[in-house]
Amino acid sequence: MNVASRPVAAGKTRTCPHCKATILESLSICPGCLHHLRFDQEAAKRQVAATSALRVEGVIRHPPLEDPWEYYVVIAIRNDRGEEVTRHVVNVGVLQSTEKRTFALSVELLPPQAPLTSNTPKAAPGVPLSAAKR
Ligand SMILES: [Zn+2]
Repeated sequence: MNVASRPVAAGKTRTCPHCKATILESLSICPGCLHHLRFDQEAAKRQVAATSALRVEGVIRHPPLEDPWEYYVVIAIRNDRGEEVTRHVVNVGVLQSTEKRTFALSVELLPPQAPLTSNTPKAAPGVPLSAAKR
């Protein structure tokens, strides 16, 4: 069965009904809680084809016989002018004797969506539609 894909504007967001995270409207699976959000084969294929543009992982281990360490995890994103676009405290916690935590950050890039139908031109202003479709 082929379910017709409904392309959405790039960058459009919505709230995941399960975990309340702000996610891309075009996703079929929430990257936070991994719940299926809609059954759209094209969206699912696109999400599977996402490539990892950045992946960083590290382990912090608490040494034995030391006082507990409190920690907080902050993600900050800056634009090309160095201005902070967002800053978010992801989690806080504590490490006790010999405990460890693994922290992983990843940025996934989605391939372009299938072009929109002809009654919704997507060409940039001043660019003929025929030139933009090449
Ligand atoms: Zn979710």
